[in-house]
Amino acid sequence: MADKRDYYEVLGVDKNANEKEIKKAYRKLAMKYHPDVSEEEGSEEKFKEISEAYAVLSDDEKRKRYDQFGHAGMDGFTAEDFYQNVNFEDIFQGFDIGNIFEMFGFGGGSRSRGGRGGPQRGSDIYTDITIDLKEAFDGCEKEIKITRSEICPTCNGSKSKPGIEPKTCPTCKGTGQIKEVSNTFLGQMMNVRPCRECGGTGKIITDPCEECRGKGSVRKTKTIKLEIPKGVDEGNHLRVSGEGNCGEAPGLEGDLIVSVHIKRNKQFERDGEHLYYEQQISFPQAALGDIISIPTIEGKEVEFKIVPGTQSGTVFKLKGQGMNSVRHQGRGNLYVNVKVVVPKKLNQKQKKILSEFAEISGEEIKHVEKGFKDRLKDVLN
Ligand SMILES: [Zn+2]
Ligand SMILES: [Zn+2]
Repeated sequence: MADKRDYYEVLGVDKNANEKEIKKAYRKLAMKYHPDVSEEEGSEEKFKEISEAYAVLSDDEKRKRYDQFGHAGMDGFTAEDFYQNVNFEDIFQGFDIGNIFEMFGFGGGSRSRGGRGGPQRGSDIYTDITIDLKEAFDGCEKEIKITRSEICPTCNGSKSKPGIEPKTCPTCKGTGQIKEVSNTFLGQMMNVRPCRECGGTGKIITDPCEECRGKGSVRKTKTIKLEIPKGVDEGNHLRVSGEGNCGEAPGLEGDLIVSVHIKRNKQFERDGEHLYYEQQISFPQAALGDIISIPTIEGKEVEFKIVPGTQSGTVFKLKGQGMNSVRHQGRGNLYVNVKVVVPKKLNQKQKKILSEFAEISGEEIKHVEKGFKDRLKDVLN
């Protein structure tokens, strides 16, 4: 499948667009591409695309999730999940909205559940976890607590008191749908909407289950063991299949999606699989060369040779001393940025030797004493 376009781009609105602007943009595009009026080729696909974008961006929760996770955050949504809160009747006054729902692959209406589409899959649960850089390097196992809905153990999800059958809805005669004929500017239209009496299920619960109060599901807190792979990076998502909210039948549980965050490390900066480290050295070390130790993310130290005449700001690469990669077996690099530090205070002997050094090098240095302000600055620093 081709990559999905950005929803904001699809509707041609700004990322900060408000509810009104989004609705306006959608209505305009929908009037153009609605398959009942558009003769353009591919209009149905186009209409589905803008409708999906609208369904997400017009729903506060979905929009937030999309802004944070992009299309990855929308994984696992069915077409019906997308459209369930969209009031198409409001947007398409006069159009045959029954058609729209068939187009999206579910019958009945925007709020119908079950029916032609079969039992619904449960929704995904989103959560966050924060680990440190060393844990990200090694990979780790974490426990997280989530609260999710599970099928009610008393009624097995039937919503009725055990042993009592729900009765057939008299309004829709068990079909879950109400058909209405209306006159529009396109002629007579058949509208199909879900039955309000039974919520589109075709059944009415006369004696609701006491444990779940007729909901069919109960909220339970569960501890999940999370395997975090080595090399994981800020913003990566882990999907734990089947640990989301329950669906309308066993086996239709949603997923648990965990967004990984990584604490800042005092020693290393990270960019993907590479690490960056700043090493301060003195002027004599830079000029004469030296052998020093550089810490690594594993907690070991590696020997590192500073060649004589090293300039401040030189970056050295220690191959294979970076982060583990999630994508391949190897490791990234550790880049060492060498900074030559100038001493802030010198004693008399140091001053004398440095002055001689300058003289031998042919430099003429005019001596400057630190004034009160500079000394004060030193103290404050
Ligand atoms: Zn129950
Ligand atoms: Zn009904």
